[in-house]
This record gives sequence, structure tokens and C-alpha cells, in this order.
Amino acid sequence: MSHSFHRQLVFTIKDRCRVCFTCVRECPVKAIKIINGQAEVINDRCIGCGNCVRVCSQGAKIPLRSVDAVNELLLSKNKIAACIAPSFPAEFDEIQDYRILAGMIRKLGFDFVTEVSFGADLVAREYEQMIQRNDYEGDISSDCPAIVYFIRHYHPDMVPYLAPIASPMVAMSRVMKKKHGDDLKVVFIGPCFAKKAETTEVDEVLTFRELREMFDNLNIRPENTDPSGFDPPHSGKGAIFPVSHGLYCTANNQEAIPEERVIIAEGQVNYKEAIREFEEGYIRKKHLMLLCCEGCIMGPGTSPGGKRFARSSAVGEYVTRKLEVLDRQAWVRDIEEYKTLDLSQTFTPEDRRIAPPDNVDVVNALQSMGKFAPKDHLNCGACGYDTCVDHASAIVNGLAETEMCLPFSIEKLHDSINNLNVSNEKLARAKAALKQSEKLAHMGQLSAGIAHELNNPLGVITMYSNILMDEAQEGDTVREDLKLIVEQAERCKKIVSGLLNFARKNQVALTETDVVKFMQHSLNSIVKPENIQCSFNPMIADPIARLDIDQMMQVLTNLEKNAIEAMPSGGTLIVGVEGDAEEITFIVTDTGLGIQKENMDKLFTPFFTTKEMGKGTGLGLALIYGIVKMHKGKIHVDSNADQLSGPLGTTFRITIPRGM
Ligand code: ADP
Ligand code: MG
Repeated sequence: MSHSFHRQLVFTIKDRCRVCFTCVRECPVKAIKIINGQAEVINDRCIGCGNCVRVCSQGAKIPLRSVDAVNELLLSKNKIAACIAPSFPAEFDEIQDYRILAGMIRKLGFDFVTEVSFGADLVAREYEQMIQRNDYEGDISSDCPAIVYFIRHYHPDMVPYLAPIASPMVAMSRVMKKKHGDDLKVVFIGPCFAKKAETTEVDEVLTFRELREMFDNLNIRPENTDPSGFDPPHSGKGAIFPVSHGLYCTANNQEAIPEERVIIAEGQVNYKEAIREFEEGYIRKKHLMLLCCEGCIMGPGTSPGGKRFARSSAVGEYVTRKLEVLDRQAWVRDIEEYKTLDLSQTFTPEDRRIAPPDNVDVVNALQSMGKFAPKDHLNCGACGYDTCVDHASAIVNGLAETEMCLPFSIEKLHDSINNLNVSNEKLARAKAALKQSEKLAHMGQLSAGIAHELNNPLGVITMYSNILMDEAQEGDTVREDLKLIVEQAERCKKIVSGLLNFARKNQVALTETDVVKFMQHSLNSIVKPENIQCSFNPMIADPIARLDIDQMMQVLTNLEKNAIEAMPSGGTLIVGVEGDAEEITFIVTDTGLGIQKENMDKLFTPFFTTKEMGKGTGLGLALIYGIVKMHKGKIHVDSNADQLSGPLGTTFRITIPRGM
């Protein structure tokens, strides 16, 4: 009989997956692919061990369901046999009299209810005979379907060592079909869901959990069920098969399978190791009894939370009681009857190994996770892979993603938070600047209005005062008064023109200028008291820019004057110019008194001054603001007026486009 049948056993409910990678970690063959942050089972690679279903706390991995298919089968005209796995006492420990369990199953509509353990009796004989043969080279037990898939997919060279013997389930199915005819449909009920993909010789496979679901659906309970017992053929020691040392204890003739011939390995760490040692030739002429789970009693189709040793003792007690009442003669007769039954099974390799990826690609994948040196390989296992290199190889093979690396993702998250903070700050600054410029725009409008309205009357005042002054006699006291009027009117005109400068919307007249020479010139044209040191720091490769020379000269000299005025008891004035391909920045720094924090956002408001009456007009920076704006530039001020937080002083940076 051949063996090639692979159904999808595990399905993923994507919405439920919270990407904890526990399934990746627990999958012995890495048959789980993470794509777009979601875990997906790759059916081709899956061996049906059920680890992922067991460990997923979110219920995102769902095993193949067979309840509906079994219900349909029960409605058909065929005779249906239920064959229950020998581990049932471990699952149904609340039912003391197992004839009641048989009755409950019968109530579901099955025509026959038998125990698979008679199949185990038959299979044990086959194993005994195989191990006794002179040419015996060792074998790997083939009754655990997940182990069989594991060998066929990942150790295809070991397939010839898989015992060519049917599993107890298949053996029992053959027995039942021989007894009741080929039309009989067989439903296996057991602790395992890899069984659902084992063979086409069994029509459906239910897990114990699904059996409980069917009982619940029809309200079938031990209290409302009469005991009925299992149908023949009845088993002997085969019933002990599901617990550790199962086959060894099941053997009819323990001399045929001496203890030292048997190696038992259960659970993924152990069975993988045993197969590796067997493949590498360290183990010879041994019978490897391998199970995916810790004895079938803990299989993924059993109810969760079971206690391993309590379960195994439940099976043991059941077998003891069973053997006490066993009709040995009938048993021997049955064994004799099925002696000639074909219990062979063939297996074919189906290589699913993935060739190791190119080293360059692995290195690239490692680097994409910020792993450049061996010290960066934390091998923390958070991604579900044992090592960073394993993870990187899986990335190259399309099974994993870089984001699965926890340390890397945390680092990336920190970076994003930092970036976010920076953009937040930028946004806040831009908002403040916008508010300020809005305010200044309103002021500009007002200033322009006032200046315009005052200009004409001031002209008239000046003109008539001058005429009157001309007409007045020399030495007349009126003349002196008129002179004062003219002077004050001139002062008003200056203020008004300052206001107009702040508010003006006239165009700039850009001229190509060497900004280094230009700045040097501005510094030369101001009066510098003795106690002020000046230094000039041009740091620019290409000094040519286009700007409005007259207006920009006002900007620089005003800044320089302010700086000097801020250093009444001396200090240093440093002017500089920087630039890149796009922009020019003029920098004026002083070591003066600094600007009080609360004044920072008033600086550019017309008439804001902290200087005493007559000294400051408060129009200098307002003018600068107007001019810089016309050059489509920016003004940046840094200042410290608090001795405790560092050296005092102020830096103004005026950045304008090169205008080329
Ligand atoms: P004014 O110089 O007439 O006071 P400005 O518009 O030029 O008017 O300057 C406004 C105010 O800004 C000043 O009174 C001063 O308080 C402050 N200020 C400007 N530049 C500096 C500087 N370099 N150091 C300290 N304070 C300054
Ligand atoms: Mg000033």
C-alpha cells in the first residue's frame, strides 16, 4: 500500500495573529512564514505535529475540522465503524465504565465501535518479526504520522529506514474492512490531527475534542447512555501502545525486542536529535521509537490542560483491567485469523529541504537588521529562530521579515520617536513664527496707513514753518521757536519713513555682490568704541550673491549698532558670513547683555525698545524684518541674558537666498 496524501491540516485566522512568533519558535520544521507581519502555515512544509495550534494563545491557528464530514458520512447508507485510539482512557477519565463511552459513540449513529488496539497487537507482531530478521539494519517507527512526514520531507535519505509496516490505525481499518466488507466506512477517533493527513484508507479522522463536540451537539452524556461495550475483535496488550515504551510493552514476545534494541525519543528536541544520530551512523541496528508528542496521550487533539502522568496511569489501569477479563482463546483465534492480512506500508521521499542561501545574501539580510559584526548577533530567539543567521537565511528564503528582530525593531522605534519629536519641535517653531509674522503684517498695515496719513500734514508743517522762519526778523524769538518746530517736524518725518520701511512692499533691486567685501564694508562704516574688539570671520567658498545693496547695508549696520549698544562696558563683536549653493547667512554676534526671554517675540515689533528715551526708536529690527522679508529670507536669533546658564550675548543670523 502506498502512502502519499497531504491535506492542509492547519489554517491561519489572520486577524487573530498578534505576531508573537511563538508558533515560528515552536514549529520544528519552520513551516510558518511571516508575511506582512502575519503568520501563515506553509502546507507543503507542515508535518502536522500541531505545536503551532497548541502554543497559539490567540487561537489564530485552527486545525482542520472533520465534524461536518463525519456527520455527512453518518447520514449515508454505508455501514460506519468508529475505531477509537487506545489513548481514550487518558482523555475520558471522567467515564469510569468504558462500555458507556462505547455506548455514547454508538448513539452518534455508528454501526460498529471498536478499539484500534487490536491493530496495535497485529502491528507489534510485524515489528517483532522485522527486528528479529538476520539482515535487520535498524528502523524508524512509522506509526506517528508527523514523524513520517518529518522523515519524508526533511530526511528523505532515511525513508528506506521507515518501518514498512502499517500504523495500528491503518491495520485496524484493514481488519474492519476485511471483516465487514470493503463498503464499510471507517472513522478513526484519536488524540492526533496529523492522522487526518496520514492515509486515504481511513475515511475520516476525528480528534477526541471533536468527539466531545459531537456528544455536546446531541446532548449525549454518560448519565443518559447505557453501557454497550466495544465490538470485536478485542485487543490484548496493544492497548498500552500510546504510552511511552508502548511498542516495547505491547510486544507479545519481549525477547524478540530486547530493551537494548529500542531507542525511545519523544518531543521535537529528542526525535530530531535521534534521527540526526541515526543518519550520521552513530546508532546502528536499533529500533527508533519516535513520537512527536510526549506519548500520544498528550496529542494536540486531546483536551487542553491534561496531566501527563495521570493520563498515562489511566491508560495503564484500563489495560490491566482489560487484560484481567480478556478471553485469551478468542484473542489468539482473532490474531490467527488476521495473520495473513497485508500489513505492509510503503513510503516515498518528498524532499522539502531548502538549499542554504548564498552567504552574500545572508550577510546582506543581517546588515538590513543592523547586524554588522559578530557582537551584533544577539541570538536572543525573539524572532522565533535560534540564531540571527538562521533568521537572516529565512529572510533570504522568503519565510521571515526583518521586522521580526525585536532589538532592531525597538531601535527603529526609538529612531522614529526621535524623528517625531524633532518634527514636532519644528512644527511648534513654525507655528510661533507664523503667529509672529501675522502680527507683524497687521502692524505693517497700520504703520503704512499712519505714515501715509502723517506724511502730507508733516510736509505742510515743514513748508509753512520754513516760510514763516524766512519771513521772521533775525533775532526774533519767534524764529527760534519756528526752528524748533522745523527740527521736530523733520524728526517726525524720519520716524514716519522708518515706519514706511518696515511696512514697505516695494521691490528689491538685486545686484550681484561679493558678500564678503560687502560685510567687511558694513563693519568699516560704523563707529566702534575703544572698548569693543571686532573680528571678521568669512567662511564661504563662493561669495557672490544677488541682493539689494542699500537695504542690506542698512540691515547689517543696524545689527552691528545694536550689538555695540548691547556692550556698554565693552566686549567682542564678531561678524561672519557663511553659505552653501542655495543660501547666504550673515552672522552678527556680540558678548553683550543678551535679550530677556520675555522680549524675544517682541523684537521685531515697531517701537519696541529697551533703550532709554531719545536713544532708541525701536524701529531698527522692524526695518530689518521688512528688508529680509523682501529678500525672501529668514532671521534667527539666539541669545542668553542669564549669567547662570552660560556666557552672555546674542547672535543674529540673517539667511537669504543667493538670488542667482
Ligand atoms: P532700538 O535699537 O532702537 O532699541 P531695535 O529694533 O534695533 O530698536 O531693537 C529693539 C530692541 O531689541 C532693543 O531695544 C534691544 O532691547 C533689543 N536688541 C536688539 N539687538 C540686541 C542685541 N544685540 N543685544 C541685546 N539686545 C538687543
Ligand atoms: Mg537699534
